[in-house]
Amino acid sequence: MASRYCELTEGHTVNMTQEQEEQAKILRALAKMGVAYTVTVIHCPSCEILTRLMVGTLGSAEWLEGASIQDAMPDMPATLRETLISGLCFRCQEEIFSSPEDETAAILNDPETMEAIREAQAE
Ligand SMILES: [Zn+2]
Repeated sequence: MASRYCELTEGHTVNMTQEQEEQAKILRALAKMGVAYTVTVIHCPSCEILTRLMVGTLGSAEWLEGASIQDAMPDMPATLRETLISGLCFRCQEEIFSSPEDETAAILNDPETMEAIREAQAE
């Protein structure tokens, strides 16, 4: 299935722009045939699990052609967009982007930040 994350066969060198153009063409042809969604399998670079995503065919084509992902896939939740862009699965995104406990711990463990907070409080 054509997607931005299709793995290239080993030893097969393809100009990425050309590859994307080809994929966009295929996706546009599929959209014309009435295929609204295509399935993309994404390999998480952090934990290596595979995420299977249903992606709008036309939106994918537009994205490959250079549209911003927000414009190409306006209905797609931000988490799914992030998976498409970075490859990170939902669990890794949670760990990396939105862990308030970790953020607090990071602040408490950072002497410079703590110093800045103390100074701000002293004023
Ligand atoms: Zn992951």
